[in-house]
Amino acid sequence: YFASHMAQEDGARPVILCGPSGVGKGTLVKRLFQDHSDVFGLSVSHTTRAPRDGEEDGVHYHFTDHETMQERIGRGEFIEFAHVHGNIYGTSEQAVRDVSAKGKICILEIDIQGVRKVREASSLNPICIYIAPPSFEILEQRLRDRGTEAEEDLLRRLNNAREEMAWLEEPGNVDVKVINDDLDHAYGTLLDSLREWYPSLEKS
Ligand code: 5GP
Repeated sequence: YFASHMAQEDGARPVILCGPSGVGKGTLVKRLFQDHSDVFGLSVSHTTRAPRDGEEDGVHYHFTDHETMQERIGRGEFIEFAHVHGNIYGTSEQAVRDVSAKGKICILEIDIQGVRKVREASSLNPICIYIAPPSFEILEQRLRDRGTEAEEDLLRRLNNAREEMAWLEEPGNVDVKVINDDLDHAYGTLLDSLREWYPSLEKS
């Protein structure tokens, strides 16, 4: 009831969380779902990238191979898709429908190519929240500390991050910027801004 009430309140605009790889989007999203799983649901993307330790098929991503992905793209199953760090990632219409069917607000965690496409070419009318690192140097350090990528892949992600951040910093490209200086602080700021669109979101 709570979620559907909120959906009516604001036409259930989906929320895009974007920001460079390693900025902590994943951690923030995880926490949001832990605290408000009744309100928000994740649009589970398809990807051709291999699962990382602890990632579950159908939960974090729908893991697939290049050929199958291309076939599905050909069938027009995706709202948007993009080549990111040498892999294909995409949001299927089904992924968004699955969340709405549960009466929840859909969260999309996609890159800026996806943000552009969703904003320009779909009727989703998303709210776009940019999770930003305190600085590029801090981002690089965090990505290195995470240690999930080989050097070549890491450099690719950093290059990409620089471009993404430049675009995200341009006026008008996002609705809100949340700086992830400290996780608790960033989470609080994220919830505060979500409450502006979804006022009945409880304090926690
Ligand atoms: P990762 O491999 O670290 O999970 O994700 C790499 C990048 O791909 C992140 O910036 C993430 O936001 C983006 N991404 C994940 N799913 C999608 C998607 O469905 N579409 C687009 N365009 N980007 C995605």
